[in-house]
Amino acid sequence: MKQKIIDAVNRQIREELQSSYTYLAMSARFEARKLPGAANWMRNQAREEVLHAMKFFDFLIRRGATPELQTIEAPDTQFNSILEAFEQALEAEQHITKCIHELYDLAQTERDYPLQTLLHWFIDEQVEEEEAAEGIIDSIRLAGESGEAMFMIDRELGLRQPETEGAE
Ligand code: MG
Repeated sequence: MKQKIIDAVNRQIREELQSSYTYLAMSARFEARKLPGAANWMRNQAREEVLHAMKFFDFLIRRGATPELQTIEAPDTQFNSILEAFEQALEAEQHITKCIHELYDLAQTERDYPLQTLLHWFIDEQVEEEEAAEGIIDSIRLAGESGEAMFMIDRELGLRQPETEGAE
């Protein structure tokens, strides 16, 4: 593998883990606010981001490269409402989408075909991630932010099940 590609995949591993860390911090804040459903949603999201990092990690190993783990920053998660938290989640996903697209551009320029194939899965996944966050934002806006609405939204978010490792 070209070093340029290895470096870029290592950076993407960091991005995915950083995003996992952000969701985990959001989960902790929702626990503190007694919104267990939203906390559950964020916890599952955090777990899913680790699986994303692992797909890139394993990709490097399978191609004979060694993943080099980079520094993860302490997440900056301050929000005053569920709506704000999910708006931040959507922004985070838009950032990841941009990173995935840039990585794809590089894979094309460098003619790394296996990376292009791996990234097809991620490109689809990002469409789903943004769609999910947008859907929740729409629901919150529609329901309003009364105590009753929050209770309903939280219960809905609590239904999210953890993804299993093999799931694509
Ligand atoms: Mg991800």
